[in-house]
Amino acid sequence: MSEIVAIPRSTADVVDAVRAAEADGAALRIVAGGSWLDAARPIDGGDRPVRRLDVRAVTGIVEYVPGDLTLTARAGTTLAEIEEATRPHGLWLPLDPYAAPGATLGATLATASWGTLAASNGLPRDLTIGVEFVDGRGMVVRGGGRVVKNVAGFDLVRLTIGAWGTLGVITEASVRLRARPTSECSLALDLPPRPEALAPFLRALRTAPLTPLAMELVDAPLARATGVGDADAIVVRLAGNAAALAAQRRVLAALGAVREVGNACWRALATALPADAWTVRLSQRPARLAALWHETTARALDLDGAWRQGSIERGVVRLVVPAREGAALALRLATLADRWQVIGERLPLEAWRALPVPASDRLSATIRRAFDPLQLLNPGVLGHPVAASAPAHPWSLHT
Ligand SMILES: Cc1cc2nc3c(=O)[nH]c(=O)nc-3n(C[C@H](O)[C@H](O)[C@H](O)COP(=O)(O)OP(=O)(O)OC[C@H]3O[C@@H](n4cnc5c(N)ncnc54)[C@H](O)[C@@H]3O)c2cc1C
Repeated sequence: MSEIVAIPRSTADVVDAVRAAEADGAALRIVAGGSWLDAARPIDGGDRPVRRLDVRAVTGIVEYVPGDLTLTARAGTTLAEIEEATRPHGLWLPLDPYAAPGATLGATLATASWGTLAASNGLPRDLTIGVEFVDGRGMVVRGGGRVVKNVAGFDLVRLTIGAWGTLGVITEASVRLRARPTSECSLALDLPPRPEALAPFLRALRTAPLTPLAMELVDAPLARATGVGDADAIVVRLAGNAAALAAQRRVLAALGAVREVGNACWRALATALPADAWTVRLSQRPARLAALWHETTARALDLDGAWRQGSIERGVVRLVVPAREGAALALRLATLADRWQVIGERLPLEAWRALPVPASDRLSATIRRAFDPLQLLNPGVLGHPVAASAPAHPWSLHT
């Protein structure tokens, strides 16, 4: 049976699609650029058919006020289009999720995707000032606004971002822009040879008088794939005028041997993921990053073709494993989850089973019932149990 696809062009069309799905007893799989649909837990409509809601045609920049550093765009607008519109005014939306070029604004916010610039510019939640979405009852909900100074009402923006579409289909968002750096340089430092020297080395880097745009730990395979070198290294992205760059370079040179690498390595880092790899994030306090790095060296790097990237200021290690090693990864995740916070990104089914559903999801499930009582939108994606059949009366779910 061929899958039904709804292709809305406007918020009103999304409302119609949600109501049609409700009337037909179907669930909806929200699709945008389609680059990351197999991430998070598998979609599970229970006994209902799952219909695709393709929001790519809900696109276009609605309002752009360079002087106010704000931009409002429909959800299907790609980050590349926003980049193209803002660059001529010396501005940017400093969101650089690990993503394909067709990644959309709506999906980036829905998944709260962040990349290396998050360390200096904040997370999607920090950069979003307003959202419009259509909830699972077919109601248009707006939170925040189009200007930076608005604090009215309940903060629906933060709630929606990272909800993976389970509270509503994002149709429009307003974001704050920042001044684009006029000059940049990227430097690499090799790690100290003795493993026990890594923790003090990272501490020295974190507390040094530096204001990097990004500071990432890459292991040898990733360093090779991104043109950074042949060994584990730290890549630092600096911005500012010539004097500021020179001063920061001196600070880094006092910590170790520094070499210049091209700025293109950041794009290479963002797109290094092969289409068929599994990925997982492990985290702890940033101060424990060295211990986490050593543990992933011991437990995961023997997997053929695996590589890692660590965010120094956020204390997160992203582990990437080729698809053929999925079963081996699943076996190790439970042990890793005993000591570290483990967030699945894209994993085989058996690995999802090895990971506990976070306790906080009980609270988010309750909030979801208010916005999407029939569990119409992306059911199962956050690991909440899906009702065996669509309840006839939404309020019967409020137990
Ligand atoms: C932790 C993490 C790591 C990632 N790593 C990579 C990576 O290494 N490489 C890569 O290419 N991409 C990666 N991504 C995906 C990417 O960074 C963004 O999520 C991106 O914007 C996906 O764009 P898309 O339009 O292709 O989304 P899609 O693949 O179409 O959708 C992604 C998810 O967002 C939901 N969604 C889409 N649009 C909306 C909307 N308007 N309202 C509500 N929900 C919506 C979808 O249902 C789906 O669950 C990652 C995402 C996350 C969360």
